[in-house]
Amino acid sequence: MEGPIGQKEKQLEFALASVSELSSASSAAQSKPLVARFSADFGVAELRFQQESESIAAINVDLPTAKLFKLGPVQSVCISECSDSSKEQTAYSRGVNVQFRNEEESRAFHCTFEQKKKEALQGKQLQLPNGTVSDTRSKFDDKIEPSSSKMYFHYYGQLLHQQNMLQDYVRTGTYYAAVIENRSDFIGRVVVDVGAGSGILSLFAAQAGAKHVYAVEASEMAEYAQKLIAGNPSLAQRITVVKGKVEEVELPEKADILISEPMGTLLVNERMLESYVIARDRFLNPYGKMFPSVGRIHMAPFSDEYLFIEIANKALFWQQQNYYGVDLTSLYGSAFQGYFSQPVVDAFDPRLLVAPPIFHVIDFMKSKEEQLYEIDVPLRFISSVGARVHGLACWFDVLFNGSTVQRWLTTAPGAPTTHWYQLRCVLSQPIYVMAGQEITGRLHMIAHNAQSYTIYLTLSTKMWGPGAEQEGILQTSSCKLDLKEPYYRMSQPQAYPLAQDQQQHQLISTQDIPIQSQDLEEAELMQQPSPNSDAQLNSIMGNV
Ligand code: SAH
Repeated sequence: MEGPIGQKEKQLEFALASVSELSSASSAAQSKPLVARFSADFGVAELRFQQESESIAAINVDLPTAKLFKLGPVQSVCISECSDSSKEQTAYSRGVNVQFRNEEESRAFHCTFEQKKKEALQGKQLQLPNGTVSDTRSKFDDKIEPSSSKMYFHYYGQLLHQQNMLQDYVRTGTYYAAVIENRSDFIGRVVVDVGAGSGILSLFAAQAGAKHVYAVEASEMAEYAQKLIAGNPSLAQRITVVKGKVEEVELPEKADILISEPMGTLLVNERMLESYVIARDRFLNPYGKMFPSVGRIHMAPFSDEYLFIEIANKALFWQQQNYYGVDLTSLYGSAFQGYFSQPVVDAFDPRLLVAPPIFHVIDFMKSKEEQLYEIDVPLRFISSVGARVHGLACWFDVLFNGSTVQRWLTTAPGAPTTHWYQLRCVLSQPIYVMAGQEITGRLHMIAHNAQSYTIYLTLSTKMWGPGAEQEGILQTSSCKLDLKEPYYRMSQPQAYPLAQDQQQHQLISTQDIPIQSQDLEEAELMQQPSPNSDAQLNSIMGNV
């Protein structure tokens, strides 16, 4: 047979003419077809020479220590440390004589050998200059798919995306205000900027008088950050850019304060909060501060007939029975499901909310990284109006709990819009509620290895109207969404333009108003209503 069967095996398995151990007189199993197989079972990178039909290896070679030499066009020798655990004497080397069937197969094998050996060394062990061997697989690598992190850091390595964040003046301005108004938290302190990007927050911290700032950035943006910082010489001497992941880099001293902007859509998208709490455990002094220190996910049911119809209509394409003579209808159901699995990202009018919002707190100071793998929020609302509920609207805010001023950065509907907008999970089956009726449910988010979450949403109400029992009969609607695949709807016209006077009211009541009380306990802060929940409540009651 000419080589391997499947595409996957093609790179991992090579047919051979013969194999023999240098110490042994005879070739191994010459009579049957022989193969060389690269494998990485249980994290152990190996090269196995074996009979094609057998799963038990005839000869096992430890890939990270192996070297391959060409003795001739179709003959090579592979030398490695003895990996046979039954022999205690690992100080000896083992040699394997390999005969290929032709020159081309020999070349392909040599290429794959070097590639697999490099991967094994990168993935498992690295010889450091001082001679120690360290495990280079970080927590980040263990849980994130390499293709996802490659795209992610490629994205953040580009100036245009950093510019997009810098031009979100609500975001950047709130960070600036929070730092500058709380100079006392920065003066003479060691700061770590977790995911420094362009280095802007490091520069703010230096402006506020930090003794030294370590700007840790994993993407190629670290180079630009270095340039930007060098271009501000009065601050540059107090900032060190460290290129690498916060899970992996070593810093020469502990930090008094961490500053970071790790928030994604719905707060948790991108899974960078996990890096933030890992950085806390690795770099922050026991009594250090975090800027921000707390995040809250706010949620409320909404009613939006326009949005629902827009999404449902997208799938109508697949209801055509004669598309160039082809019946598309067999895919209609899948397309319909597909559209409803996308969370909608846009800025909506808070009057679409049908109940006062609730929130779920994530305490960055106390959360364990693992607690962010699964976020489970029980839902309970009291509807302010009778409406068809189309899903759950979500947004977030974060707190800068400064010693001088406490400031919230909010992404709430009705507040000045940020580049995060708001997020809505739309049910393919709306539910009906009456004013005063209870809506219960669950928002269950499970992290996945592509730096995002699968969202499971369920909303229920008691049945209403003729035929409904007094107790226990629920109308329930559920959906599953991928936070990684949102539908950005910002270009759509606003269906509900605000009247001038209402707009005024909204904006005033939803500004980032610093909390006045300076010695507010954290527990009290947790119970603060969302800065704009009153406004939302007013508008729900008055307008929906
Ligand atoms: N702090 C900057 C950039 C925020 S965007 C600002 O406020 O403008 C988040 C940045 O964190 C990105 O540049 C991203 O590359 C970086 N980042 C994300 N995860 C990281 C990690 N684990 N280690 C280091 N940098 C990370």
